[in-house]
Formats: sequence, structure tokens, C-alpha cells
Amino acid sequence: MRRKLVAGNWKMNGSLVDLAELDGIAAAARAAPQVDVAVAVPFTLIHPAALRVPELAIGAEDVHEADSGAHTGCVSAAMVREAGARFTLSGHSERRADQHETSHDAWAKAAAAHRHGLNVILCCGETEAERDAGRAERVVQAQIEKSVPDNADGGWFTLAYEPRWAIGTGRTPTLDEIAAIHAIARAKLRMMVGDAAGGIRILYGGSVVGGNAAAILACEDVDGALVGGASLTAAKFVPIIEAAA
Ligand code: 13P
Repeated sequence: MRRKLVAGNWKMNGSLVDLAELDGIAAAARAAPQVDVAVAVPFTLIHPAALRVPELAIGAEDVHEADSGAHTGCVSAAMVREAGARFTLSGHSERRADQHETSHDAWAKAAAAHRHGLNVILCCGETEAERDAGRAERVVQAQIEKSVPDNADGGWFTLAYEPRWAIGTGRTPTLDEIAAIHAIARAKLRMMVGDAAGGIRILYGGSVVGGNAAAILACEDVDGALVGGASLTAAKFVPIIEAAA
């Protein structure tokens, strides 16, 4: 049985004063011991966040694929681990769009994170044009094929399905569409990693809020949520944690 995971992604938001929000999030996590709760924060906040709420899984939003070296401005998996991160995102669509990252990059970053003892939430998802062209399923399958490491298992690896057009827009696919992609993603994982696919959590992300979380989390093969805007405050994030409980 897969435990539900509710993960926040603060993106390029937040300063030290905002870490107070984590207190309420941690309290909600304590009140819902059957749910795993995690928050990915900007690099600068990893260490203070991990110190402030040691019971919450604090993570990075990205890591470099190399262990160390001449990569000015980049941050390695070992560095974020030392700062207190327990996981990292990989292949978020904003990095694919803004930093031109590919599925291969997402794979290499996931592998680097795993080498350094971090869990990974690897993101995939189609654009609106791809969905309109009837290609959503094929795009997600191809992304999974190119980005999921061969040794992925539920102990360290989570997949997140985030249709790009649903991110920050207030729009979501229908529940049937979400369930359909999650089923296809699970089948693709099974082809790649066999029985381990049954233990890998698949999160839905894209305009998840307190009001739609329960219905989305009840979909077949949806094992949690990856939440952007609504993870920035306890007032908005806690109802999503409660919906998963
Ligand atoms: P929103 O919840 O703001 O749509 O963002 C989703 C997301 O990109 C999480 O990684």
C-alpha cells in the first residue's frame, strides 16, 4: 500500500520570515501521521528550514548532475544534502522551459541525487498544444522512458505528473483525464522497472488547492499531490494535507 505524499514546491518564492509558515504545515503533518509531507524550497532556505522543522522533509528544487567541479552558479546533490535536504525535484517543467532542460538532464539529476542519498520527485507532463493534438499520453510515456532511472523504486523515487498548462492557471484536467495518464504512467513504469512500479508513488500537480484536492487524491493511481502556489502558506497547504489524510 502506497502512503500518500503531499509535497510543496515554493519555486522562487520565500524568505526567512516566510519559514514561519512551516510551523503550521509541520503541525498538520503531525496530525496526519498516515500522510508524508514534504516541501521543496529555494537553495537559500534549505538549511534554515531543515533546522526549524526537523520533522518535515525539506528538499531542493533542482541539483546539478555532476558531483562537483567547474560549474559556476550550480549546486550539487551533496551540497543540498549537507544543508539538510532529504529530496530534490528533477525535471520540473519550469526548468525544462526556462533552463532548456531535457528528459536526459532530469535522468542525470535524479541519478546524482540518488548517489548522494536524496529522494527524488521527477516531473513530467505535456504542454497544452500537445494535449490538444491528442499527444499527451505519448509525450508523458516518452518523458518517463528517457528520464526514469533503471533502478527506480518507491524507497527513493516518486514520479509527478504535472501538465504544463495546469500549472499556476487554476485549470486542471478532468478527473478521468488525470486517472488515465496516471494509469499509463504506472504501466510505463512497470515496463521499465517491473514489480518495483507498484511501490512508486505518482503525484498529480497543477493548480491543486484545498477545494479540489480530495477529488484528485481519490483518483485511481494518484498517490499524492505536488503543490506550487497553494504550498506557500499554511492556510492554503494544510487543507490539502487534511484531504490526503
Ligand atoms: P501550482 O500548484 O501553482 O499550479 O504549481 C504546480 C507546480 O508546478 C508544482 O511543482
